[in-house]
Amino acid sequence: MAIGTPIEPLTQISPTPARTDRTAQTARKPRKKLVRRVGRDHSQRLRHGFQIAFLLLNVWIGAEFYLWVRGFETGSPVSFSRPGGIDGWLPISGLMNLKEWLLTRHIPSIHPAAMFLLLAFLGIAFLLRKAFCSWLCPVGTLSEALWRVGRKLFQGNVALPRWLDPPMRSLKYLLLGFFASAVAIMPVPSIRSFMHAPFGLIADVKLLNFFRFIGVTGLIVLGVLVLGSLLMKNFWCRYLCPYGGLLGLVSLFSPTGIRRKEERCIDCGKCARACPSHLPVDKLVTVHSVECTACFECVAVCPAEDALALSIAQLPGVKRAPRRLPAWAVAVAIAAIFLGIVGYAKFSGHWQTNVPQAVYQQIVPYANEATHPMP
Ligand code: SF4
Ligand code: SF4
Repeated sequence: MAIGTPIEPLTQISPTPARTDRTAQTARKPRKKLVRRVGRDHSQRLRHGFQIAFLLLNVWIGAEFYLWVRGFETGSPVSFSRPGGIDGWLPISGLMNLKEWLLTRHIPSIHPAAMFLLLAFLGIAFLLRKAFCSWLCPVGTLSEALWRVGRKLFQGNVALPRWLDPPMRSLKYLLLGFFASAVAIMPVPSIRSFMHAPFGLIADVKLLNFFRFIGVTGLIVLGVLVLGSLLMKNFWCRYLCPYGGLLGLVSLFSPTGIRRKEERCIDCGKCARACPSHLPVDKLVTVHSVECTACFECVAVCPAEDALALSIAQLPGVKRAPRRLPAWAVAVAIAAIFLGIVGYAKFSGHWQTNVPQAVYQQIVPYANEATHPMP
């Protein structure tokens, strides 16, 4: 395995002749005069703030949900209702509900928040690339924390060899294809009967119980994922996460992207070395990759004034320079999309699953016995 090897073969390549990694290492002497950037970069502090806030929100929701489940198991249900935000952990339910809503214009009553959260994250991906992965996703946050710890422990992270990286990255699309095709072939009546069956109603409880009563196989898989995440940057996100795969495909249509001004760039290569997605930012004019998470790591380390920025694409025929999007604007946009869609769902009465407590009392304590209704 090679350490920190830039991997992604990409789209719009700078007219500057490509260099091998070895020559790039030795030839990284500034060829142009550096106009040093003034002012400090706050993008990473802002992004980490979002990550921590969203992680804490998920811990809060998870704790509330656990207490709600325990209430039914112990026969003394708690006074608060099931936290609707737990639906964020049910992306397949979100996809099924989205299909039902698109085909019938009827907002489903079971796990509706899963659909609204999916819509929010798809909206963020369309406008701001895979910013959900690097700004909000709790799994992405833990992944990032693990590779940073691993980098300290092992004096660096490793990257898969070039020949192995693309087939490994395709795994997440295989998983996405499997889940998406399963939903695509389900007619709406089948989706409804799936969601209203005990398995669909308490898919969230089953997920919780998977981790509460995890077996040896589950622990081994979890251990491999943790080890991979310590060794490699964003191991789960890069190779296995179907949700990230879907958001990456949507981000291909995004009008925003990291853009490098060649006349300002001094070819120091710091951006490419900082990119957790191994993108050769220093050789591209515009980063169009499905792996870009709008994390601003490349922008944060760039020493040249105005050389690198997340920018909005120009419309054809428009002469004006692409409009730059600072990190604070990305933060505001993420918060507005997320809070706007969640707020709409809450205030219109479409956030909570519409199931009486008595039904939950009958099925939650026996969640492990609920089997998948599909053959
Ligand atoms: S470092 Fe730059 S190019 Fe790499 S993923 Fe982050 S924003 Fe995209
Ligand atoms: S864009 Fe990349 S290569 Fe160019 S100056 Fe900035 S960090 Fe260096």
